[in-house]
Amino acid sequence: MLLADRRWFRSGWPFAVAVAAVAIGYALSIGLSGYAVYLAISVVTSSIAIMGLGIVTGSAGMIALCQLTFAAVGAWIVAWLNVSGAPGGFAVWLVLGALGAGIVGILIGLPALRLRGVNLAVVTFGFAAAAAVTLGQIQFPGSTDGIAVQRPGLFSDDRSYFFFSVIALAVCALAVFFLQRGRWGASWKSVAFSERGTASAGHSVRTAKLTAFAVSAALGGVAGGLIAGQVQLPFATSFTPLLSLALYVLAIISGAHLIDMAIFGGLLWVLIPELLKRWDIPQDWAFVIFGVLGVQALTSGTNLGQAIRDLLHRRRRSPEDDASIDRDEPAEDAVTTTTVATIDPAADSNAPVLTVEGLTVEFGALKALDGVSFEVPAGTIMGLIGPNGAGKSTFVDAVSGFLPGHGGRVLLDGGDLGSLSPTARARRGLRRTYQQDRVPPQLTVEAYVRFVARRRLDRAEIDRALAFFGCPPASDRLSAVDVGTRRLIEVAAHLLAAPRVLVLDEPAAGLSHDEHLALAARLREVPDRYGVSLVIIEHDLDLVRSVCPRLTVLDFGRVIASGPQTEVLEDPAVVKAYMGETEML
Ligand code: ADP
Ligand code: MG
Repeated sequence: MLLADRRWFRSGWPFAVAVAAVAIGYALSIGLSGYAVYLAISVVTSSIAIMGLGIVTGSAGMIALCQLTFAAVGAWIVAWLNVSGAPGGFAVWLVLGALGAGIVGILIGLPALRLRGVNLAVVTFGFAAAAAVTLGQIQFPGSTDGIAVQRPGLFSDDRSYFFFSVIALAVCALAVFFLQRGRWGASWKSVAFSERGTASAGHSVRTAKLTAFAVSAALGGVAGGLIAGQVQLPFATSFTPLLSLALYVLAIISGAHLIDMAIFGGLLWVLIPELLKRWDIPQDWAFVIFGVLGVQALTSGTNLGQAIRDLLHRRRRSPEDDASIDRDEPAEDAVTTTTVATIDPAADSNAPVLTVEGLTVEFGALKALDGVSFEVPAGTIMGLIGPNGAGKSTFVDAVSGFLPGHGGRVLLDGGDLGSLSPTARARRGLRRTYQQDRVPPQLTVEAYVRFVARRRLDRAEIDRALAFFGCPPASDRLSAVDVGTRRLIEVAAHLLAAPRVLVLDEPAAGLSHDEHLALAARLREVPDRYGVSLVIIEHDLDLVRSVCPRLTVLDFGRVIASGPQTEVLEDPAVVKAYMGETEML
């Protein structure tokens, strides 16, 4: 057995790395000369701040140009607690500074629920500018009176304070490591790739964004608090909007969602201006260098850090690739355990799981759906077909809650879904997949499946479902999986959520003919195997013919036929609607 496959190794190695880092920090604190120690503290503080950017920007894909404002909040709180002689000492003040910055992060994250891209950039940069003006006015507590921030007792000189900051870095890195591999981390990566996909997996987009902002800002707060202890008389000039902007660019360059690369970023942040100083070049030119490297990273889509990392570890699999969310001990009797819902045979088999009544959707003057009614009895596979533009995807969007203004009703097990959000509908047991790829490539197959399933799964259960759909092993990275197969993983993951009904929007798109046939055979087994009713939306009639005993046909937003497959496909209105569509002929 490979070392990396052993359970103790998998759960223990991050701690071992952290301890090793602290030991190296201790050696450096003894070995480095006075000025180098001071610079080394700056490397540590900026690494922590960049690590925070790695979450909000690198993982969650949001632009936040105010990281040093969060740092200023942390520094301000530490300075204020210092001046007021608050109990607990520096370490406690640092934690409170992080909490305070985290709360401010949530407040700044609120606009991010509505804004994206350049608009979010403007808002966060505006906040940084406003905070800088405010800070210029109110100053840091104690700074004008020369009341120095008291470092922790055991770590009062620069060398030992550096060691203290390395311990703080190790703690932050461990926290980030486990958060990134947990449910929050998966939600950050998912929301960066597709907000709709996140909601359809029953996760709140709002929570994903706000937790990213909160954790990122809290790390900024730790960095700021440490800076307060480092300089002892903090000043607003250490936390300007321009510095925040440069730090953001550096996070992009270094690929800061990876912890080692955040530390590499911290090193660049300190080293480049320092080298310029040694060469008698004004340090401000560092901004230009960061700018040029940033443009390179953004245009090429690769970052410096990743390139170096690839070069250093040319290995196919790293242990962290196998890490997952909520990893359970494999159950002894995994083969016999089955936790998925099964349809109760005693239940009224005619009771519909999903009922859609008079669904109407208008896009301006266009009636995309016009009074569509549709029923899905328990344990069945229903087909919804129609030519391109008939309104099939609009139907799924409306049913799954993405078109809240629609007319008509959608009932799940007789309960009106009314104005429920897509997230709430997914949690109730109404799941859907997408015609386009919505599977976040940053995750492993296993992390994605666990994220979508939203319930405890043992590894054997995941492996069985993946094998059933012919998907790659759980430990593979989704970025290495082709789009067609990714959509099969999406289907498997949603089935493992044990929903009441799963609506598949053109599941066969992107698959070869053979894969197509294999998928059809598997889908036929789904109601018995997983206890889930299916609605298959298809343009391609081959799949529908072999899987769906009953069909409903849409054309121009109206139901033109509904009933047993053979009757429906021979219906003259259906033949007419499909005229020119080669599959029918
Ligand atoms: P299908 O999935 O059956 O191919 P769609 O549901 O995507 O069809 O589209 C149905 C009709 O609604 C089409 O005429 C399409 O152009 C229109 N439509 C879909 N989405 C929108 C939208 N967001 N705004 C305006 N028109 C739309
Ligand atoms: Mg469609």
